[in-house]
Amino acid sequence: MKNAKLVIIENEPMAKHTSWRIGGPTRYFGETDFPDGLMVALHWAKELSLPVFLLGGGTNVLFRDAGFPGFVVRYRAQEWKISTENDDGTALIWAAAGLPMAKLARQSAAQGWSGLEWAEGLPGSVGGAVCGNAGCYGGEVANVLERVHLFINGAKEIWPVAQLDYGYRTSCLKEKKILQTPIILAAEFRVQKAESALLTAKMEAIATQRRAKTPPGQTGGSVFKNPHLASETRSAGQLLDQAGLKGTRIGNAMISDLHANYIVNLGNACSDDVLRLIELAQKKVLNSFGIELELEIQVI
Ligand SMILES: Cc1cc2nc3c(=O)[nH]c(=O)nc-3n(C[C@H](O)[C@H](O)[C@H](O)COP(=O)(O)OP(=O)(O)OC[C@H]3O[C@@H](n4cnc5c(N)ncnc54)[C@H](O)[C@@H]3O)c2cc1C
Repeated sequence: MKNAKLVIIENEPMAKHTSWRIGGPTRYFGETDFPDGLMVALHWAKELSLPVFLLGGGTNVLFRDAGFPGFVVRYRAQEWKISTENDDGTALIWAAAGLPMAKLARQSAAQGWSGLEWAEGLPGSVGGAVCGNAGCYGGEVANVLERVHLFINGAKEIWPVAQLDYGYRTSCLKEKKILQTPIILAAEFRVQKAESALLTAKMEAIATQRRAKTPPGQTGGSVFKNPHLASETRSAGQLLDQAGLKGTRIGNAMISDLHANYIVNLGNACSDDVLRLIELAQKKVLNSFGIELELEIQVI
């Protein structure tokens, strides 16, 4: 199907649309920059009773080699604007779900708005960040989100942040506690006026730290959540390192020797290679420390 606002193709390899460059074909794949294009796409999928998966930047998902027997749709709208500006120097930024989160952070900081600096260099879209409560360098979505614009049960709704039931790298949207696929159309974030030069300097420091700890190549971000134990939070990366897993390879996938919580696609890795590494890592950490590592990535 193709019209000015929507393109749908068949048997599209998901490896083309994920940062891991891994994943079998989806039966249908659609992309649109327009809210009404998205509505048409969802209506079409409903008519065919297809399961729907909303893809953002594809930086936190692992599609299985067998692919997805439904409709993967990417909403790419990228506008952002100041939606409310108050006399006390605070404001709300409205951003469409398809906008890269790091681009929003950079552009808003350049205009002298503080609040999103932590997202410097964060891969993925506003929609993906809101869905998974992305966070890093002292910030996370839950701390700055005011409300989210959703398409749910065939209607548009605005939810305040409290309704998302945010936790560490999760929300009710990610946990699919809701029956219908909820689609994030846009989000509104709280920001304050600040000196843009100071914000830029802070973000350059974050970019340097991020470059130093991120393994080069094709990855899907942190594979496991940092486990919260009764007495403390442990770093999943350190546990994996101490279990001797750095550099472990299955097929063409390898646990990074720079940061053990990343699995790198060395070239033509398949989903099964990654899933076997995940299983091995979980077993070794359980046997060594009695700790069960929970996935941060989503396996589709
Ligand atoms: C190198 C690297 C470094 C990373 N560093 C960090 C980090 O520091 N901190 C961190 O938190 N994460 C990090 N990540 C993980 C990833 O960047 C985040 O989880 C990001 O927010 C995912 O966004 P995405 O658009 O790629 O979402 P996707 O991976 O495409 O999807 C993730 C989830 O969001 C849902 N989703 C996406 N868009 C929508 C929408 N419009 N409506 C409804 N649901 C939607 C999907 O259905 C899926 O459930 C890193 C990843 C990589 C590859």
